[in-house]
Amino acid sequence: MGRDELQKRVAKLEELLEFQTLIADSSSEAIGVFDENIQCVAVNREILKVLGYGHDEVVGMGGLDFIAEDYRELVKENISKKYNQPYFVMGRRKEGSTFPAEIRGRTVELWGKIYRISAIRDSSYLNTTEMELRETLHELEIIFKNSGVGMMFLQGGRILKRANQALADILGYESPEEMLGLGMCDLHLSERKFHEFGEKYYYTLTNTSQVNVEYQVQRKDGKALWCSLSGQAVDVNVPADLNRGVLWVVDDISVRKAEEQRLVRLATTDSLTGALNRREFFRQVELVLQGDKRNSVGSGMLMIDLDNFKGINDSHGHEIGDAVLISFADICRSVIRSGDIFARMGGEEFAIFLPGTDLSGGIALAERLRRKFADSCVTVPSGVVRCTTSIGVATINSRRLDPERLLRMADMALYDAKESGRNRVCFYD
Ligand code: GH3
Ligand code: MG
Ligand code: MG
Repeated sequence: MGRDELQKRVAKLEELLEFQTLIADSSSEAIGVFDENIQCVAVNREILKVLGYGHDEVVGMGGLDFIAEDYRELVKENISKKYNQPYFVMGRRKEGSTFPAEIRGRTVELWGKIYRISAIRDSSYLNTTEMELRETLHELEIIFKNSGVGMMFLQGGRILKRANQALADILGYESPEEMLGLGMCDLHLSERKFHEFGEKYYYTLTNTSQVNVEYQVQRKDGKALWCSLSGQAVDVNVPADLNRGVLWVVDDISVRKAEEQRLVRLATTDSLTGALNRREFFRQVELVLQGDKRNSVGSGMLMIDLDNFKGINDSHGHEIGDAVLISFADICRSVIRSGDIFARMGGEEFAIFLPGTDLSGGIALAERLRRKFADSCVTVPSGVVRCTTSIGVATINSRRLDPERLLRMADMALYDAKESGRNRVCFYD
């Protein structure tokens, strides 16, 4: 081998050695290598930190100096037995202080010589960590148990593994124990919803993001309940393994939901008759038209006005007038189909939008309504009150339909019905 070649090899070996040292020094384990006489031959940076020595002081020292006196026999014995399981001793630092230590040693043979490689871990640190962990777990346990919001922990196949009392209360169960083992299928209103929910939120959960949703769940008694649900996978890896668990926080929001629904009702309907108000009427008609772009039949519109209604107010009082309006709205609801849109446009004027209805269908419905109302009556102390309606019908075949225009057409037909004697149906020609 030439001189150049040799130099190259040495350089290569030096580089390798540097890497080895780097690896050893990067380890968070404190490692020392000892010869047959338990003399220290090599250490990594961490063990110097643990024992408080400088590098050059340590090499050549007796390894037992790192052990408190009382434990030296044990260590010697373990080394001679080539014991390779972890065991506990008291370690000794340079300045003489001692600390609980965990030792794991391994005996190896290198170029015909026996060495002992030992890792020493300051287990007082380990104990505080364990302690802190235990306290944190205890805190979580307290939060879980005493929380005012429901909590449940699901595992493998969306099975309830843990729940708190608040959740049992919300869902109408006696105790968390009663809920153990419940499949989430039992908490959805239907099996379809159970599957849809799973499909909808699977990605978010496996992505370790939080799912926040307002959702109707099923109580033990079968009743639906509005809840807010916040869920997150416990696995921190992405994608998270949901079988390892998902924690859900469940809060009863039924009171707020009912209030929201009440406000929506207030904003969209007429409080006397329960019919939609004018604004909501146009909003819903627009919705239907958007959803039905290829309407082939066309749509119909009825514009209805009660006849001589002022006279009823005048002779029986406003309250009886109100009762007549309510009775009329009830009759309207009894003759329309689902999908038809019924509204009070103001005073004693009402409109009904009939999607997918042609002129003859519109006229037939108007006639049925006119007759039914004319045949009905409202009972008052002095007898009964009767009332009639005039109805204008308009239809349009165009796919691009303007509801306001259609309503104006129906209104013109209504004018004709009034002009030609009331209590009749006219259509826009
Ligand atoms: P016509 O046949 O030409 O429609 O005659 P009419 O008397 O029905 O029409 P008019 O427009 O003269 O009178 C409508 C009346 O409806 C006047 C108004 O006081 C009454 N009215 C409007 N809103 C209400 C209500 O909410 N309750 C009661 N009781 N009356 C109402
Ligand atoms: Mg009127
Ligand atoms: Mg009127």
